[in-house]
Order: sequence, then C-alpha cells, then structure tokens
Amino acid sequence: MSTILILGGGVVGLSTAMMLARDGHSVTVFEHDSEALPGSPEEAWESWGRRGVAQFRQPHFLHPPVSCLLDSHLPDVKEALQRAGCITFDRLATMPASVTDRTRREGDERFLTITGRRSTIEYAIASVAEELIPVRRGVSVMGLLTGKSTAAGIPHVTGVRTTDGKEILADLIIDAMGRRSNLPNWLEAIRARRPIEEAEDSGFIYYTRFFRSATGAMPAYRTELLTYFHSFSFLTLPGDAGTWAVTVVISSSDQALKKLRDPKQWETLVAACPLHAHWLDGEPITDVLSMAGTIDRYRRFVRGGAPVATGIISVGDSWACTNPSLGRGITMGADARTRHGRGRTTTSG
Ligand SMILES: Cc1cc2nc3c(=O)[nH]c(=O)nc-3n(C[C@H](O)[C@H](O)[C@H](O)COP(=O)(O)OP(=O)(O)OC[C@H]3O[C@@H](n4cnc5c(N)ncnc54)[C@H](O)[C@@H]3O)c2cc1C
Repeated sequence: MSTILILGGGVVGLSTAMMLARDGHSVTVFEHDSEALPGSPEEAWESWGRRGVAQFRQPHFLHPPVSCLLDSHLPDVKEALQRAGCITFDRLATMPASVTDRTRREGDERFLTITGRRSTIEYAIASVAEELIPVRRGVSVMGLLTGKSTAAGIPHVTGVRTTDGKEILADLIIDAMGRRSNLPNWLEAIRARRPIEEAEDSGFIYYTRFFRSATGAMPAYRTELLTYFHSFSFLTLPGDAGTWAVTVVISSSDQALKKLRDPKQWETLVAACPLHAHWLDGEPITDVLSMAGTIDRYRRFVRGGAPVATGIISVGDSWACTNPSLGRGITMGADARTRHGRGRTTTSG
C-alpha cells in the first residue's frame, strides 16, 4: 500500500483518487477551491464556487467510453449520476437520416452513455469521493519536495509544499491540476528537465446558452451533436433535469461574428437555421456565456528514454487537453487512468 497525494479535485482527480483507494492505497486529495460540496445538483449549478475550473459552467458531454468505465470501475458513481438526474443518451439516435437501417444489433449498448451538466457530473462524482477519501478543499499546493534520487541525475519527488507553508510527504504525487497546472515550472524549480510540451490555441470562441423545458423533454436531434457550417459550428448537448446547451462555435479571428455575444444576435442566428431553430424552444436559464483561449496541449515527461523526475505523474488535462468542441477531455482522462503502467501518464513512481 502506498501513500498517494492527488493535487486537484476535478473530475479526473477525484475519479483517479477513488480507483486508487479501491486498490488499497491511502489517498488524499488537495483541492485549491475552498467551497464545500453543495447540498444538491441545482445548488451546484446555481452557486458552487469553482473558480479553479474555468469551464465549470460550459457545456459538457460524457462519451460512451466514460459510461463503460464507470460500469467496470466506479458503478457507485454511475448510480450517483443517475440519482443526481443525469440522463441516459443513445449516440446512435443522432445518426444521419441517410442511415436507413436502424435495426439494433448486438453490442449496440456500448453507444449508450450517461451525461448531464458539468456541475451535476462533478457534484455526483464528488459526493461519492468524499464518502471514500479525504478531499481537502481550500488547500493549494505551490511546489514539490525532493529526497534521495532513485536514478542517477533524476530528481525524486517525495512530497509537496502548500501555500500555507506545510510540507506533506507521500510515496507518489499525482498532478491533476487541469489546464492551468504549473507542473513544468515546479519541475524546473527542483532542477528536473522541463517536459516536452506541444501546445497551440485551438482558435475558437464558444457562445453558449443553456435552456430548460417546462415538461422535462428535450428537443429532438435532427443532426449530429456537432454540426459544421461554413464559418461557424453548432453544438447541441443534452443536460440533466430537462436542460440542454446550445453553443455557437466561431473562429477567434472572425471579428464580425463576435457580435454573437449579444443574446439578440445569437438568437437570430440560431432561429435562422432550420435544423437547429427548435433548440430555442425552452426557457433560457443563462445569458450567452462565452469562452475563448482554449489550448490544445500535450506534455511528455519522458525525454530521451528517461523520466524528467520520479515520484510524480500527471493525469487529465494537465497531461493533455484538446479542442473541447469534440468533448473528449474526460474520456481521455478516464482512459489514461485505466492505463497506468503503460507509459501514457508521465514519470514513474
Ligand atoms: C469549453 C470546454 C468544454 C468542454 N467540454 C467537454 C465535454 O463536452 N466533454 C468532456 O469530456 N470534456 C470537456 N471539456 C474538458 C474537461 O472539462 C476536462 O477534460 C476536465 O475538466 C479535466 O479534468 P481534470 O480533473 O483533469 O481537471 P479540472 O477539472 O480542470 O480540475 C483541476 C482541479 O485542480 C485544482 N487545482 C489547480 N491548481 C491547484 C493547486 N495548485 N493546488 C490544488 N488544487 C489545484 C483546480 O481548482 C481544479 O479543481 C471541456 C473543456 C472546455 C474548456
């Protein structure tokens, strides 16, 4: 059994923590944001202060592999998602009309998923995690501690230093600090080589509005979740509790389309698109929310066949994050979690 510290209590950090705890390790999560888990999914949506996750109130979709992973590794999280009102969604329901043979086949259940608003998903995951492991909210980590190297010339991480000056030791540190993880600088500060980093701004702006129906029913899909037009794309994502999100994705260099920040202009555009206009048939529950500056990034912590440091690994968005309009972040994070030891995460412990 090892003592493991997880830095960051987002969706991937908490899920990783639960899996490791179930493998018999002693796991603690340190989360920078101090607000306690709210009492209900609606409270999480309305008022949970999650400044550490810029996309907390942006649209999210869980792809079917996440649902399969929950079945095999975290069935109680799946139950918590169901209790919180997340919905079962069939990806095959959005097949193009040109696919005329819609007879169900053996194995098609792998296209079923469970999904909801990001706040509801995180509320459900955190409510199970907090029953299982210590999740210390309001603890911010600012750097790494080192001990005797286990391989010549390679720093060995033995713990972390928090912003209130505490030093906490562990056998393994897991960086789950998301897109804004400062790990490369922390590694440099302990004289490790910097990881190799490939990064590029995805060049998109999201303009999203969430809606809720009076009846709890969602608009029907007449296209895929993501539809490309000449100069913009539409993303229509199902949510929990009769909610859904409609997003117009534009290029950040398209000055004219930035007028879509104005709800009137945004609504005029959606209403003008025959396959999407009916997604406006609900009560808007947000203004038009914008998000820009989302990078695609991949970090490699093994250089020239050797890890840049031992005793620390990186998971989730800190390790790799991609264009969010394809909604792959949590699926990739989940996939990497189940591949520990196959070299997809970073340095060896
Ligand atoms: C606009 C947008 C839309 C997206 N849509 C989808 C989607 O539809 N489907 C999907 O699967 N993914 C989507 N993603 C990606 C998804 O949000 C991420 O993949 C996911 O949040 C990654 O989880 P994580 O736990 O790695 O990081 P995060 O969820 O970002 O959590 C990181 C945590 O670390 C904490 N932290 C940071 N620094 C410190 C510190 N020094 N000490 C302690 N704690 C710290 C933060 O407070 C935060 O809670 C989207 C992303 C964006 C930007």
